[in-house]
Amino acid sequence: MRDNDINANGTNANSSNGARKDSLEVKIVVAPLELLEKYDRPGPRYTSYPTAPTWTDKYGPESYAKALEVASKKTQEPLSLYVHLPFCEKRCYFCGCNVFIPRRRQHVTDYIETLKLEITKTADALKGRNKVQQLHFGGGTPTHLSVPEFTEVMDAIQERFVFLDTAELSIEVDPRVTTKAHFEFLSKRGFNRISMGVQDFNDDVQKSIGRVQPYDRTKKCVDYARECGFKGVNLDLIYGLPKQTVETFTDTIVKTIGLRPDRVAVYSFAFLPTRIGNQKLIKEDELPSLHAKYGLFNVALKLFTDSGYIQIGMDHFALPDDELTIAQGKGKLMRNFMGYTVNKATDLVGMGISSIGLVSGALAQNSSDMNTYLAKTNAGEFATVRGLRLSKDDVIREYVISSVMCNFILDRAEFKKRFSITYEEYFGSALDDLQTFFDDGMLTDDGKVLQVTMLGRTFVRNIAMVFDEYLKKQEAERPLTFSRTI
Ligand code: SF4
Repeated sequence: MRDNDINANGTNANSSNGARKDSLEVKIVVAPLELLEKYDRPGPRYTSYPTAPTWTDKYGPESYAKALEVASKKTQEPLSLYVHLPFCEKRCYFCGCNVFIPRRRQHVTDYIETLKLEITKTADALKGRNKVQQLHFGGGTPTHLSVPEFTEVMDAIQERFVFLDTAELSIEVDPRVTTKAHFEFLSKRGFNRISMGVQDFNDDVQKSIGRVQPYDRTKKCVDYARECGFKGVNLDLIYGLPKQTVETFTDTIVKTIGLRPDRVAVYSFAFLPTRIGNQKLIKEDELPSLHAKYGLFNVALKLFTDSGYIQIGMDHFALPDDELTIAQGKGKLMRNFMGYTVNKATDLVGMGISSIGLVSGALAQNSSDMNTYLAKTNAGEFATVRGLRLSKDDVIREYVISSVMCNFILDRAEFKKRFSITYEEYFGSALDDLQTFFDDGMLTDDGKVLQVTMLGRTFVRNIAMVFDEYLKKQEAERPLTFSRTI
């Protein structure tokens, strides 16, 4: 696609649909090309702070066992659980997840047996602390497991952990492999939120990313989820994929809106072929340019907001009565590895290959290597291979980054209440680095609240980076390998 095919406001320059162009320009705050170019650089998405490259392999199984021991004392506080199920039939070209393609079913069986051991060992370490307010299954494709296989995993969890009546139980599913029996099983086991990967409904785009998933199949799964009483249906899209144009993406979004999901994620495609080998199958010359990619996001922003959805954080949309929308309106939206949430427990326990947890103020990640994960867990150890104990400074910066990324504000009074110091006293001259965002109309400050403007939302990762204490050091050591911020 050529640059001049798309305006940054998401309209096609050659389109004869003048009405659409006008209405797009009225509602959307369009970033000029020079700002896109000025701020487009590698940067973290801040699903955690400190970010993964700062974690250390000095944090291992012993440190994690101690963290669980400390956490076990908070007997009445509920937990968040994350369980990673890494299996997929075949790897999609764009995918950056930790995925394992099993050549034999025995691989899945072995994994389930090992995961059950980890669940038991973790529950033992937590002693009587067993209440759960949030459980999320991610992957891979969790529904690659058959219903009997999934039953084994859920039995192991429910034998040791107790879900609160208000708990959110969520799972990522791939509509291509998820059957009605899966939905019935999940519903019976208390799951109430489902996230379906769609990416894009266009045939050519789907072929170019190695993931052919007919619209009818996705619709059938949405219908199954509703029939089975799921209270939340989320759909995940990606913009910036090969062969996407304003026309194709408009069609994808119109179809998505027609399915009326409660939430939609519209992720930016991070093209990192040197780090993610399977992305070499993507033809670089079929990718939209920076300007065109930004135009695609604006199409999503325009169409979703016109259809009654509210923008949540950087890249999500939700219906007005959704709890994320309500929380964001109150400045109370939060984020963890599972995405935006209102249900964040003080301790998040990760289980399964490559899973990440945050327990007793320390980040901990399991090995991403299948043989290592199986061997360590079967030997009765935790498979923790890296992590980081958060310092007081990390906690303060995490709060600021999370507040800016989730709620687009930083409330000075709230900051002082939490940390007994003013925002200015704490950050001092480092705040000078925010000046460029004020100058470019991305931030305002009324003396009480620092606010990200509509224009600034596009650049919120760049704004958050000002508060990242580690970034300059990381950059000095080697080029950053994060995805690009725009
Ligand atoms: S199905 Fe999902 S997790 Fe599996 S390879 Fe495709 S995108 Fe990745």
